[in-house]
Amino acid sequence: MAETELAKVYEPHAVEERWYRTWEGEGFFRATLPSDRTPYSIVIPPPNVTGALHMGHALNNTLQDILCRWQRMRGCNVLWMPGTDHAGIATQNVVERQLAAEGKDRHELGREQFIERVWQWKAESGGQIIGQLKRLGASCDWERERFTMDDGLSTAVREVFVRLYEEGLIFRDNRLINWCPRCHTALSDIEVEHEEKAGHLWHLRYPVVDQPGRFVTVATTRPETMLGDTAVAVHPEDERYRDLIGRKVLLPLLNRQLPVVADEYVDREFGTGVVKITPAHDFNDFEVGRRHGLDLINVFDESGVVNAAGHQYEGLDRFAARKQVVADLEAQGLLAKVQDHAHALGGCYRCKTVVEPYLSLQWYVKVAPLAEPAIAAVREGKTRIVPQQWENTYFDWMENIRDWCISRQIWWGHRIPAWYCDHCGEVTVAKVDPTACTHCGSDELRQETDVLDTWFSSALWPFSTMGWPERTPELAAFYPTSCLVTGFDILFFWVARMMMMGLHFMGEVPFRDVYIHALVRDAQGQKMSKSKGNVIDPLTVIEEYGTDAFRFTLAAFAAQGRDIKLAEERIAGYRNFANKLWNAARFTLMNLEGFEPAAVDPASLETSNADRWILFRLNETAREVGEALTAFRFNDAASALYRFTWSEFCDWYIELVKDDLYRGDPARRTTARYYLWLVLEHLLRLLHPLMPFITEEIWQALPKGGRQPAVGGRQQGVAPSLMRAEYPRPRPEWEAYRSGAAEMELVMAVIGGIRTIRGEMEVPPSREIAALLDCGSLASLKLLKHNEAYIVSLARLGSLGIGIGLEKPADASVQVAGDVQVLVPLKGLVDVEAEEKRLLKEIGKIDKEIELFSRKLENPSFIDRAPAEIVAKEREKLAEVTTTKRVLEESLEKIRRLK
Ligand SMILES: [Zn+2]
Ligand SMILES: [Zn+2]
Repeated sequence: MAETELAKVYEPHAVEERWYRTWEGEGFFRATLPSDRTPYSIVIPPPNVTGALHMGHALNNTLQDILCRWQRMRGCNVLWMPGTDHAGIATQNVVERQLAAEGKDRHELGREQFIERVWQWKAESGGQIIGQLKRLGASCDWERERFTMDDGLSTAVREVFVRLYEEGLIFRDNRLINWCPRCHTALSDIEVEHEEKAGHLWHLRYPVVDQPGRFVTVATTRPETMLGDTAVAVHPEDERYRDLIGRKVLLPLLNRQLPVVADEYVDREFGTGVVKITPAHDFNDFEVGRRHGLDLINVFDESGVVNAAGHQYEGLDRFAARKQVVADLEAQGLLAKVQDHAHALGGCYRCKTVVEPYLSLQWYVKVAPLAEPAIAAVREGKTRIVPQQWENTYFDWMENIRDWCISRQIWWGHRIPAWYCDHCGEVTVAKVDPTACTHCGSDELRQETDVLDTWFSSALWPFSTMGWPERTPELAAFYPTSCLVTGFDILFFWVARMMMMGLHFMGEVPFRDVYIHALVRDAQGQKMSKSKGNVIDPLTVIEEYGTDAFRFTLAAFAAQGRDIKLAEERIAGYRNFANKLWNAARFTLMNLEGFEPAAVDPASLETSNADRWILFRLNETAREVGEALTAFRFNDAASALYRFTWSEFCDWYIELVKDDLYRGDPARRTTARYYLWLVLEHLLRLLHPLMPFITEEIWQALPKGGRQPAVGGRQQGVAPSLMRAEYPRPRPEWEAYRSGAAEMELVMAVIGGIRTIRGEMEVPPSREIAALLDCGSLASLKLLKHNEAYIVSLARLGSLGIGIGLEKPADASVQVAGDVQVLVPLKGLVDVEAEEKRLLKEIGKIDKEIELFSRKLENPSFIDRAPAEIVAKEREKLAEVTTTKRVLEESLEKIRRLK
């Protein structure tokens, strides 16, 4: 019974630190195996090991934590699987930058030493985000934390690679790929960010061979690629050029002869209808080249510098080569014209360097056969995407999916388990490093130097983290996972690929639900970015307002399909909410001194209207929150909790029971204490998933009743932590208070009516007034008589008359509540002279405003020039002040009648 006293002011940091340590230390985040409780599992979208917590992570992990805490309290055996991603290029870049600062580069170190250096970096400074997730309150099962390059996950990667290779779903091919000349690696289609950029269209003249004086003009946005031209093409039905087909043109500068081919790909409307064909440097031209058996001439090296195939341009960077080629063509009179031309330019998603289509030998996953079951699984509802509109995006992409280029020319990552034999030239792909060629037995083997796309290992995350390819108890209990919480930006990078891999290797979808949340933007709806300077740092916010206020804000704004416009004032607002809860708890605790809930037999208590009302509302809130969380409507859960806590519990119930606590008879006092305790205790449990820290701190200070069985019914008696207490479920006996609650709402409406009149008449709160309640029915009369004490006390009345058919004083102000007329006689209540003066002054002010708006709206130049919505706004404002004036005039009339 040693209830702790709560500090006067809630100080989040010490509380957060203390409870997190306790929860983690006691193993409350751990999933237990074996277990007869219902499993519930979520795999975390693994943040990059280089990552620092940003708003996106904060939202994503807050929502996951809400679900996990809620399901734990509902009795589930929850596994929230945490971990980090090795993040190939990103991490390699970090360490390369470090080396550069020391005046070194990775090639000096060599592959092995470089990789060692990356591991060393990871050990020292990688994974700081894990500590930041803990500050957010994330209740992950940290003992199971994984890393995409740890031994177990690396085994899974090899297993998958070898199996897909053996099934013919992984192959090697010489194709055009997207190439980053800065990162020196291939990029998959979705790693290229397309952006509309201003550019030029250069029109180049190529002389026709054997027809002196005749030229064809081709248009291009990348003139330097002409060095790699191996044909020009026209449309087969283009009359203008029919005679050219089969002839040759001369490639200027390099003086190479190019055939003229006919291909339906050519758009007759574009430029002159003749196009240059550069199969090694353009995706469409590559296809044309394939159809016509054209040569592929690669004119760039891996840095985008012209190679020997470019003859006199060798050694020039691609953009320098562009300038030189254009200048030389111009000098020879072969530049027909230059037009401004905006076009989409692909940039590397890591470094923004302009991506080059580049011919190279790469490894691919043949995706179409894997996509098919992944499409079917969503169509059949085995996996549900919420909000549902994202399903269409998913289908669109999956139905048009192209082979996935999985090799990357970097060092940090899973090295491809393929070995080339120098003796017979065959390739050996194996789970275990081979010592000899499987084809000829030679031991002259070289391992592939490429590593896998970082998304290859994360595609296996839902099952590789649980120990696959072993058949582990984790997989048996927790796969398929219950839910994936993620942003739409990685729907294709990650979610789609997990679907494909999960179905292929586990024979089952990786998750039942995929909840796609919105983006966090700034208050104006702009994307947060360092360059705009509008970034809100989650850790700064946590420092300033406390974790719970921050989490509650994120939940409150997480409406489906709508981006979150986050302003710091919002978070400050929810800090006030936390403080309101804290103060209510302090009040409750002060009144519970020596109180032992276990000693109270609830059946013996005589409940008041107010008690029945708050129990009904508590019950409704529990129902609403449960329904909202089930449907991933986090904002609805937050708003139901906010309303109940602030308006119903703090503003009404606490006020209603004060009298009982201070002046009630002993029985009534016990009842009030009991329900005050009970409602707060339930409220804390309801709030816990959203605000874990403050609720635990208060809950621990409350007297324990031993009435709530701990989760799972396993432990008897009181739960050791709020985390382990049961989540309140709607109870039929409280649902039955519905009509009692409606009665109380009438009492509250009556009190509200009197308060409205007090407000309108500006009667100071300390001043007691008189009121009359004219009831429309016997039931109301009885009810109000019964609750007279509440009305007198909460409306601060000096006298109260309740009756039916009461005579209405002429000077009374009237409010209506249900079938009750609330009458407050004004005579003697207000200083008529002063009030009249005040109202006249107000009306004077309003008149000026009305004049201002009217003049503006009568001004033709404003009406004509201002945007329609601005004019509409002004009209609205005018209507508003006109209404205000009418209300003031009515009050003035009333006041004058009192004279
Ligand atoms: Zn790059
Ligand atoms: Zn061999």
